[in-house]
Amino acid sequence: MAKVYFLDLRKHFKKNIFENLKTLLDKARALDIIKKNNLCAIKLHIGEEGNVNFVDPQYVRLFTQLIKKQKADVFLTDTTTLYAGRRHRADLHIELAREHGFDFCPFIAADGLYGDDYVEIDGCKIARLFTQIDRLFVVSHFKGHLNCGFGGTIKNLGMGCAAKGGKLAMHSRSKPVINRDTCVMCLKCLDYCLYNAVKKKNDHLEIDHKLCTGCGGCMSICPARAIRFSWDAASADIQKGVAQYASAVIKDKKAFYINFLINISPNCDCFHTNEPMIAPDIGILCSFDPVALDQACYDLIKEAIDNLHPEIDPRVQLSYAEKFGVGKRNYEIASI
Ligand code: SF4
Ligand code: SF4
Repeated sequence: MAKVYFLDLRKHFKKNIFENLKTLLDKARALDIIKKNNLCAIKLHIGEEGNVNFVDPQYVRLFTQLIKKQKADVFLTDTTTLYAGRRHRADLHIELAREHGFDFCPFIAADGLYGDDYVEIDGCKIARLFTQIDRLFVVSHFKGHLNCGFGGTIKNLGMGCAAKGGKLAMHSRSKPVINRDTCVMCLKCLDYCLYNAVKKKNDHLEIDHKLCTGCGGCMSICPARAIRFSWDAASADIQKGVAQYASAVIKDKKAFYINFLINISPNCDCFHTNEPMIAPDIGILCSFDPVALDQACYDLIKEAIDNLHPEIDPRVQLSYAEKFGVGKRNYEIASI
């Protein structure tokens, strides 16, 4: 049974949070995998412009300091997005990382300037950088997710480490529609779509599903919430793809995984809208097993996640991840 280490922030501690986090990593023996001269990447999400829910850079700085103490080299990384925004091209992504406080360590886009630099592993288009490193630390914000129910480590690995072509393949079956009754014709989606898939037809808009990549960006910027996906149909396919990609990313790799159950928002850090949290802060969990880790986090906020998207079964990603050898769903909690 996999061990999941838990720093419960609902408890009172005499030490400060960074000392407790260090104790958590010590207890998990997280740094045992880092050897002298290793090249170590920290995979994270720096948050879209306007989002403030992403993992606080102060925690990430601590991880870089601990890795450097092992006399290893470390940098931060993420891939470019399918949707338009400040992260869809490497130079803009790097600039935003600095603006969001990730300025203490190099930040490198994993899939090249345009998101097309990848290596094919078991049919999955994985950003090349992940095949060039010795060790991987995956830092994830655990929260709700509009097409997977929740997003945690499996999502961060599967979707987050895929090059654009891989993201496209995973999203290909989910396409949005515009509700004419609620659309206020502000045309923001039309200006926003990188793929020119939003078309003006007389007095209304339509989405051309042949051009649409299913990136979901238009939905996140629509002020009237008039754009909807049929997630129940697409969700299982996306979750399966994410699990398959996660398996390809960590193949033959030594990695450690950390989830933050803090700022538990209904949507992922790609959203720049301000939304009420779906659950109070709980804490920080980590493990060498990404599936056990996500299962443990899901169990802690199951009610909030299930109420958020009753039409989605988020256990699909957990069961496929187990099937594809990413990890085990059975776990045991070790609290500090
Ligand atoms: S962004 Fe939303 S409200 Fe504005 S035109 Fe597009 S669908 Fe309509
Ligand atoms: S129409 Fe399709 S491709 Fe364009 S922003 Fe929306 S989901 Fe993305």
